[in-house]
Amino acid sequence: MSISQRIKERIDIVDFISSYVRLTRSGKNYIGLCPFHNDHNPSFTVSPEKQLFYCFGCKEGGDVIKFLMKIEHLSYREALAQLGRRVGIEVDDTNDESSGGIRELYKINDLVTKYFNYILTETQYGKIPREYLAKRGIKKETIDTFKLGYAMASWNSLQKFLEKKGVNLETQEILGLIINDKETGKSYDRFRDRIIFPIIDITGHTVGFGGRVLDDSLPKYVNTPETPVFRKGHILYGLYQTRDEIMKKDQAIVVEGYMDCISLYQAGIKNVVASMGTSFTREQGLALKRIAKDIVIAFDTDTAGDLAVIRGANVLREVGCNVRIARWTVFKDPDEFIRNEGPIVFLDIINRAKSFLDYMLELLINRYDITSLEGRIQFFQEFFPLLRSEPRVSVQRAYLDKVATLGKIPPELLYREFDLFYTSRKKEFEVTSISALSWMQREDMDVLREKLERQLLFFALNDIKFLNIIKEIFQPDIFTIKEYREIYERLLQWNFEEGGFEVQDDNLSSVIAKINISEQIELSENNLNETINRLNGIILQKKREELIRELELAEKSGEVEKAKELATKIQNLTREIFSIGERRMSVNG
Ligand SMILES: [Zn+2]
Repeated sequence: MSISQRIKERIDIVDFISSYVRLTRSGKNYIGLCPFHNDHNPSFTVSPEKQLFYCFGCKEGGDVIKFLMKIEHLSYREALAQLGRRVGIEVDDTNDESSGGIRELYKINDLVTKYFNYILTETQYGKIPREYLAKRGIKKETIDTFKLGYAMASWNSLQKFLEKKGVNLETQEILGLIINDKETGKSYDRFRDRIIFPIIDITGHTVGFGGRVLDDSLPKYVNTPETPVFRKGHILYGLYQTRDEIMKKDQAIVVEGYMDCISLYQAGIKNVVASMGTSFTREQGLALKRIAKDIVIAFDTDTAGDLAVIRGANVLREVGCNVRIARWTVFKDPDEFIRNEGPIVFLDIINRAKSFLDYMLELLINRYDITSLEGRIQFFQEFFPLLRSEPRVSVQRAYLDKVATLGKIPPELLYREFDLFYTSRKKEFEVTSISALSWMQREDMDVLREKLERQLLFFALNDIKFLNIIKEIFQPDIFTIKEYREIYERLLQWNFEEGGFEVQDDNLSSVIAKINISEQIELSENNLNETINRLNGIILQKKREELIRELELAEKSGEVEKAKELATKIQNLTREIFSIGERRMSVNG
């Protein structure tokens, strides 16, 4: 048995993936939201039986090694070594040719994180920032958990440190660690005299940094710009540290700033992440939806905060999250709140957070006078689209009743107004489904052929006995799908005495996972025969259609000899099919 198979035998793919994606059982498989694309409905499937994953959205798939490679940006050897360490099987990954590139950038960022942390915790330069953090109530333990650091008040200390470590200026600039002054041609450190908040992705690597001043000078924050490893809207601050707690509570509290996140965490409210700025993105929403049902927004209380709340809540709702909104007065942000009132009062605010619809209803009722006709129309225009996105009719009705009471409007009238919004949308939807249907029918034949090819390959992949039957009958060119043909060719060449069939090719391993997970046909000889018959039927039909067309042409143009020839071909073809059937029966014994 190969080393990869020995390792895979000791790791359950469902357990392993569960620490990255919330999985729920669905029949004999598990499903969840795909971590590799913007997934709205659970398209990501994990099969405990086959020990494979496959996403029906982005078509990513494979075994546990492939999953780890993709999610942690590792090479095959690195992923194998990491899994090996879990189960006590040693894998030599020192001669890994494929290191470099992106992973090199992660390594440098991780090194910089250690450097800033060392300056803060171990040197005299860190004395003032240490005092500053202590004054804000940040404990040593919290500094360790979030790997906080300090960038010295110097123009080039980081630059010098990295040069000594062999990191050239170009790479430092790519990572946004230094800034190149175009006029003088000189480079200087981006982060100077600032508390450093490393931004860590879910795999534990630092992708960027936030730097905060120690006094009131501006700008208050400096952040890493977009780099090959840091895409601002794609990451949530703190998620690496808080993911387990969020999954356990099935709830995520979203705050705006680094300090809000850290304060809450330190106070024992550990299911928290920070959006890092006011624009909450779909990617961030999806990252949360994958791991928690209940999302509570707890943004700053200024007016900019109000707008950010609505935008953020809308984004979260669009990706299908259940959003609630926590609001309070007096304190400007969660950090200040916690430091003044402590966690119990804050948790009470979180527990009483309003649903998005309640929040919006209250806000719009205050904004418009719905007892007047004009105010009512404006209110409908803003509130109905929100209400329409609520899937439960009973909930929609309950809100309409509330509005009816508040605005002294007859409920029947309100229902009718709302239904008008709804029916106009429904018609649009019906038109598109009809055109989609006719397209399906045209493609029917090809779809059926692909299905049969897939079934055939499914048999070949899952039992050597079936493979032996199939290879007696079909050459690789039977497969019209290129990937199927390649997989079949590899199967034919595989030496099964050395171990089970395996493919390292990125694309082919996804296709194999898809076939193994999505194919429902039971692996029996009767079903294999049926598949072969139907596939042959389709091939015959297609060939015969072609020959008949040729025959018609030949007859039209009076080519008697050619017409005779074609008629014979059609007969031979039929005979060939029969002989295939006989051969198959003799193989079956
Ligand atoms: Zn996907």
